[in-house]
Amino acid sequence: MSIATNIETLQAELKPIGVTLVAVSKTKSNEDIMLAYEAGQRIFGENMVQEMVAKAESLPKDIEWHQIGHLQTNKVKYIAPFVAMIESVDSIKILKEINKHALRHDRVIDCLLQVHIADEDNKFGLDHAELIELLRDEEFSTLENVRVRGLMGIATNTDNEKVIKEEFYELKMLFDGIKTSFFRKEDSFDTLSMGMSSDYQLAIANGSNLVRLGSTIFGKRIVKHYKLNSSDKAED
Ligand SMILES: *Cc1c(COP(=O)(O)O)cnc(C)c1O
Repeated sequence: MSIATNIETLQAELKPIGVTLVAVSKTKSNEDIMLAYEAGQRIFGENMVQEMVAKAESLPKDIEWHQIGHLQTNKVKYIAPFVAMIESVDSIKILKEINKHALRHDRVIDCLLQVHIADEDNKFGLDHAELIELLRDEEFSTLENVRVRGLMGIATNTDNEKVIKEEFYELKMLFDGIKTSFFRKEDSFDTLSMGMSSDYQLAIANGSNLVRLGSTIFGKRIVKHYKLNSSDKAED
């Protein structure tokens, strides 16, 4: 099917149930992105800062760019002027850096805290203890130029649906608990980002309201940037 048809079909499926579609366009050309754009898609996800910056410069300004890959502190400055949401916040350090650059641009940047739910150690994200620690950090409440909108998680890359379902269920429980404990008065803590092409239906069934779909829309990628190996993790 064509990119335009894929967008139309997915939006018809997702919009009525209140699920936001992020079209993951990493490695894809501006031409492919424009086909999705012309079919009405406005939210796109990228995991490499340079790639997002280059695309944002040449594509329509009403595109909302979501950073979905691990972000290094020294790269925040490049996306701070325009990024709509950073889904991959995995430390208080990076959150402070985002806040600093958002302030310089007189912006408030929406963020999700990425939680490590997969049964694999090669994926980024906070574990439960680290998540609570971040939320309790005395500096957290002073960060006025970031707005934590919810949580994001990536399930294990497996055919075992039971494993994936348990991970999504766990993240939904955590989301509800965190909302009650830390964001009771804030309606803006409303986003649970889970689900990719292979598992988005399971994710929605377990409470996701934002899915990040790449290959379902654009076809297979040659390079899978999201398969970071553990040595990459030591970088930052
Ligand atoms: C690449 C990527 C996706 C999309 O993956 P597909 O399997 O192509 O849908 C979703 N989320 C993250 C964090 C990614 O890096």
